[in-house]
Amino acid sequence: MQIYNTLTKQKEEFLPAGSPVRMFVCGPTVYDYIHIGNARTFVIFDVVAKWLRHQGYDLTYIQNITDIEDKIITRAAEHNKDVFAYSRELENAFYKDTQVLGITSPEYKRATDHIPEVIKQVQQLTEKGYAYLIEGDGWYFDLTKFPEYGKLSGRTAMMADDAVSRIDENDKKRNRGDFCLWKLSKEGEPSWPSELGAGRPGWHIEDTAITEKYLGQQYDLHGGGMDLMFPHHEAEIAQMEAISGKKPFVKFWMHSGFLVNKNAKMSKSLGNFMTAHEALEHYSPEALRFYFLSAHYRSPLDYSEDNLKQAEAATARLGECVAKVKRFEDEMLVEHNTAISTMIRQSEEAFAEALDDDFNTPQALAVLFDLLKAINPLLTKRGFDMENGQRLLEFFEMVHSVLGVVPGNLPKLPKTLEMLIDQRERARHSKDYALADKLRNQIEEQGYKVDDTTYGPLIKKL
Ligand code: AMP
Repeated sequence: MQIYNTLTKQKEEFLPAGSPVRMFVCGPTVYDYIHIGNARTFVIFDVVAKWLRHQGYDLTYIQNITDIEDKIITRAAEHNKDVFAYSRELENAFYKDTQVLGITSPEYKRATDHIPEVIKQVQQLTEKGYAYLIEGDGWYFDLTKFPEYGKLSGRTAMMADDAVSRIDENDKKRNRGDFCLWKLSKEGEPSWPSELGAGRPGWHIEDTAITEKYLGQQYDLHGGGMDLMFPHHEAEIAQMEAISGKKPFVKFWMHSGFLVNKNAKMSKSLGNFMTAHEALEHYSPEALRFYFLSAHYRSPLDYSEDNLKQAEAATARLGECVAKVKRFEDEMLVEHNTAISTMIRQSEEAFAEALDDDFNTPQALAVLFDLLKAINPLLTKRGFDMENGQRLLEFFEMVHSVLGVVPGNLPKLPKTLEMLIDQRERARHSKDYALADKLRNQIEEQGYKVDDTTYGPLIKKL
């Protein structure tokens, strides 16, 4: 399996240090509902984890929950709520959204459940001479002590798209980029007692504290959105390599591209976002996942209603194919057709090849649609045999277990409506647009709307 490694800037054979494979992805800061940009990243790494498991790797996959942070404290105060009650409410909303989206692969670990581990790491950094105290503010990492800072992103200064919440400003810092490890408590803020002074974790330390506990001082795979590469992931490397003296902290780094809306990264601070919850009111989880996976994970993905509509139609086609096989099972031919089984086998191989090549999901989806195009007419003409029917169902089941894009329960349309839709499709294919328009009107009279997409008609209740 080949994975593009941000650290070496090339695709490399994925060779984990041992078994189980150890993987970590930065989780949400629970101060608001997740938006579909966050959801894209979480779905991408859900697919990475599921594919690794499908390919036979035993995998430990951890994601952290940042449940203590400045933004959480500010928002809780704005809502007149206790900080912990507020963060727990948003954490639960996150679990609900991810569950509906079929994100089932990670084990979640809260920052506030790992305060002793955080304190221990900050103490180790102070003992080794990497940390210094700014009175009344906190303990900082001294970047001059770690000259390799910047080796992942190739830079040491902020850029516009970096995760802005990760900057620590204090004019007493020794170096501009020094980041906070332990924030001393201010009046009325939550804090934990420590020899460092009562306080709470800085921006970056919870991740290394959690990963050291569950994955060790070095592990195989670390993922997150592109905005976290600098300074967050650089800080993680500096912290862990300074403590352990072992390199590399992580062998493979994967970074997902942004979901972009109106030429800017979708983000809560810009206000150009749609929450996952809102999106799920309009689109099925399978369609959202299809949309996220329709671009390569390292590429940006444009937000557009049309793309989401196309994704809805595409997943409906996949679901319909499965439903058709199940519906016609009793009428299938007994005699085995080897040409069809060769076609399915080739698709299975091409699908695996695409995902083994740096998780090329658009290519994997294209393989599915090529297969669909070839088998749909055979299914309609009852030219399919039982053995191939079974094999096709198994293939689609596997596809769904990894990508989560095949809906199981499509809304049942009235028989007369299905006939009108079929007739209209035939009219469109034979370029009889006058008849197609007439049939569209008849469909609308039955209370349904048709949108023509590249994957076929998408039917919605008016
Ligand atoms: P946050 O809660 O802001 O730390 O974000 C959670 C995850 O979502 C991180 O891995 C971010 O990199 C990722 N993320 C944030 N915005 C976007 C976006 N517009 N597109 C894709 N991923 C994003």
